[in-house]
Amino acid sequence: MKIKIVPLTCIDKPFQKTILVKKDFDAVIVGSGPNGFAAAITLQQQGLSTLLLEAKATVGGGMRSAELTLPGFVHDVCSAIQPMTINSPFFSQLPLEQFGLKFIEPTYAAAHPFDNGKAAVLHQSIQQTTENLGIDGSAYEKLMQPLYKNRNIIFPFVLGPFKFPAHPLVMAGFGLKALQPATSLSKIFKTAEGKGLFAGMAAHSMLPFSKIATSAVALVLMLSAHNKGWPLIQGGSQKLADALAAYYVSLGGKIETNFNVTSLQQLPSTRAVLFDVSPKQLLQIAGNKFSALYTKQLSNYKYGMGVYKVDYALSEPIPFTAAECRQSGTVHIGNTIEEIALSEKLAWNGKHADKPFVLLAQQSLFDASRVPEGKHTAWAYCHVPNGSTKNITDIVERQIERFAPGFKDCILAKHEMNAADIQQYNANYIGGDINGGAPLISQLFTRPALRLSPYKTSAKGLYICSASTPPGGGIHGMCGYHAAKKALKDVFGMNVNKIR
Ligand SMILES: Cc1cc2nc3c(=O)[nH]c(=O)nc-3n(C[C@H](O)[C@H](O)[C@H](O)COP(=O)(O)OP(=O)(O)OC[C@H]3O[C@@H](n4cnc5c(N)ncnc54)[C@H](O)[C@@H]3O)c2cc1C
Repeated sequence: MKIKIVPLTCIDKPFQKTILVKKDFDAVIVGSGPNGFAAAITLQQQGLSTLLLEAKATVGGGMRSAELTLPGFVHDVCSAIQPMTINSPFFSQLPLEQFGLKFIEPTYAAAHPFDNGKAAVLHQSIQQTTENLGIDGSAYEKLMQPLYKNRNIIFPFVLGPFKFPAHPLVMAGFGLKALQPATSLSKIFKTAEGKGLFAGMAAHSMLPFSKIATSAVALVLMLSAHNKGWPLIQGGSQKLADALAAYYVSLGGKIETNFNVTSLQQLPSTRAVLFDVSPKQLLQIAGNKFSALYTKQLSNYKYGMGVYKVDYALSEPIPFTAAECRQSGTVHIGNTIEEIALSEKLAWNGKHADKPFVLLAQQSLFDASRVPEGKHTAWAYCHVPNGSTKNITDIVERQIERFAPGFKDCILAKHEMNAADIQQYNANYIGGDINGGAPLISQLFTRPALRLSPYKTSAKGLYICSASTPPGGGIHGMCGYHAAKKALKDVFGMNVNKIR
């Protein structure tokens, strides 16, 4: 679909003067990641006319899939495992199944192998997870059961901007655990298996384990598994992007691809622009519209470590020694908490670990539609210094081989991306940071800047809606939803609350 783009006519003029002038669109959204789509859908659902602009030839941001290795092998270029999607209060109320979305739940959410041949397992049920953890089972149950009981209060709270909790006692209980550094909370476990399982979850924070609130990420991920699971998407994550696009278009939304926004002057006339981009890009596009304070805040925004990724086409499933790993959608490769903590600390400090923590997904075990008959794929990445250009495929493979002897013999083809390539692929991943900025406590609820609303920039009508706003990285769309809600209220005088 081609949209005639008329040069910008209003955004730099005071709204009072232009409000009666007919605009090409009520709102323009820049970037088609999960947050761009969530924003566009929220606005379009209110009957506004909206246009979504995407720099690349296809929509999706972190939800794209492609034949990266050999014909017939579909790989998830970025996100693969979607606990944040299925648990998202916004996405779960959209009719996406009608537009082709199908979740597949692997036998086990995640497995974590150890050098002794054993594996800890995150099951969908708390009880099964507990049983598998032996003497650490009761500690796990005591940790997770109260959170599970209050999950319908916790999820909406953690998946949005900071607000005074409607249930302060419940959130205080969660906060006492979540705000702890992972090094502290992990002490409730006595065994290497219990500590290791927890460490693998906390490492998703992409922060050293000594940092405040690194436990929060672990708790939210484990709670997500117990609530609705850690699914993958049939046919590849791209199908989620396709379903969001089809639903948005069915509401009347317009999409323009191959449209890289570098200046406000490129945009058609509109009353609001929502940017699914990071602060660095926002400054380049609209910096001349911002106050000195806001410009300084965006310039001081901190990005976190990057990722190094390898995708594999395989002749057979990965021959993990531990049987549980052969039935798990995700495998956390890092052995003990000590090894994982060291790996994360090194990457944060600009160094490459000899034994990096590797996050591995094996989608084809549960979704044969992605591969030629009998063949398989693997998706693996580890954390590296921001902007790293080093090739560490050998090191990644050594780590996998350590828990799956014979892995290398199964490789038919591979596709590698260092941290710089990751940014080259998607301009939002600054230096390979896939979370849109480090989730430090100072940037958790107030990212990208300390303001009454983190979504509203200092320029009238301009909003930021990417993972660089609360609640941060992941395929949940909640940043986009909250930003759109704010724009609806400020610009269009509409109070919308779809999430109770
Ligand atoms: C290797 C990897 C693995 C990951 N694994 C997972 C996972 O398993 N589960 C999970 O939940 N998350 C995962 N993530 C993180 C997740 O992909 C991101 O946190 C999420 O995509 C952020 O969403 P977003 O909408 O903020 O931005 P993005 O998804 O990054 O989308 C931004 C879009 O905006 C476009 N854009 C940028 N600048 C411009 C411009 N100037 N003009 C026009 N368009 C522009 C980009 O091309 C892109 O399409 C992973 C990411 C990577 C890279």
